[in-house]
Order: sequence, then C-alpha cells, then structure tokens
Amino acid sequence: MAQEFQRVEEKLYQNRYVVDSGKPHISVAEHKTPSANLLALTRICPAGCYTQNELGQVEIAADGCMECGTCRVLCEPAGEIVWNYPRGGYGVLFKFG
Ligand code: SF4
Repeated sequence: MAQEFQRVEEKLYQNRYVVDSGKPHISVAEHKTPSANLLALTRICPAGCYTQNELGQVEIAADGCMECGTCRVLCEPAGEIVWNYPRGGYGVLFKFG
C-alpha cells in the first residue's frame, strides 16, 4: 500500500493563528539599510513574515508566525529585532499540523 505524503505547505495550511491586534510579538528595530542577517529573514522565515518595503528596509507582519525562533537566533542578539512569545491565547495553534 502506497504511503501518502503531505507537502510542508499543506501541513502549514492546517495551522491556525489568533491575531493579537495592535500587539505584534516581534518587531524590527529602526534601520536605514538592513544588515545581511536582517535581509536573510525575508528568505528564511518559514512563514514569510518578513518583507522589504519600497525603501529596502525589512518589515515584519507577525501574523502567521510559527514561533520557530529562527529570526530570534539570527537577529535578536544584535538587537535588530525584539522577539517575545505572543500573549496567552494568541499566536499559532498547531492542533491541525
Ligand atoms: Fe518567522 Fe520563525 Fe521568526 Fe516566526 S519565529 S517570524 S516563523 S522566523
């Protein structure tokens, strides 16, 4: 019997996210030009939370964050982002993953 595999994207789609409006749990520090690490977040965040704006600065929309910690490891020590867990009752729900 053939085993069925789900693509990662299909599994991620099954997660749910409770938005804490106006209280994002991650923020990007002000900068004019992003560092290489900050810029890397636009490619390595598995949830696609980081993007570049028209000025080339890196921004975050934390909705959908899976709390994997990748951005925290890469950029928080240098103070390029501020990272906290979402408040209780908010954030990702992995029940369906
Ligand atoms: Fe993306 Fe992971 Fe950072 Fe959340 S913790 S914003 S999923 S890299």
